[in-house]
Amino acid sequence: MIISKQFKFYAAHRNEEIGGKCANLHGHRYGITCKFEVRRVSSISTLFSEFDDRVGRLIAEQYDHGMLIHRGDTLFTTLSRHEREFGETLKMKVLEGPTSVENLAYTLFSEISALGFRLLNLEVKETDTSTVEYSLEDWKRDRSRFGWRREPVSRSMENLSAESAAGPVMAVTD
Ligand SMILES: [Zn+2]
Repeated sequence: MIISKQFKFYAAHRNEEIGGKCANLHGHRYGITCKFEVRRVSSISTLFSEFDDRVGRLIAEQYDHGMLIHRGDTLFTTLSRHEREFGETLKMKVLEGPTSVENLAYTLFSEISALGFRLLNLEVKETDTSTVEYSLEDWKRDRSRFGWRREPVSRSMENLSAESAAGPVMAVTD
């Protein structure tokens, strides 16, 4: 049985590698659709509220109204300096590669799977006209390419953040 859940978040980002207008700091309303495989155990399979609680919390705490930024972007260095100099904490979601929608899909897929759900497919809608569909097979292929270190297991979100922060370097896919 497949359960589909939708989430959304607003975030700033730029893609410093592809240049043009994408290199300017700008924002999107990202729409996320997750398809989870669930097994029915009684009259229900998984409570819908479980997805809201865990995936919704991940998105709210780490992504929403934040800035997606590549650890290797010089802007990340500048913003980190700003934080130290002015004692501010900016909400930055650090990715190990440029913040393309493909790399975002890979990161989200890894993090949602790590919450203990069996995610089969993830759609990331970046603009009104562009959506990336990302499957479990895509994720497995990317993971072997990027060297993501282990199978997803249920972990606390604190551990998850630490894991993500220490993750591998991703390649640009567009
Ligand atoms: Zn963009």
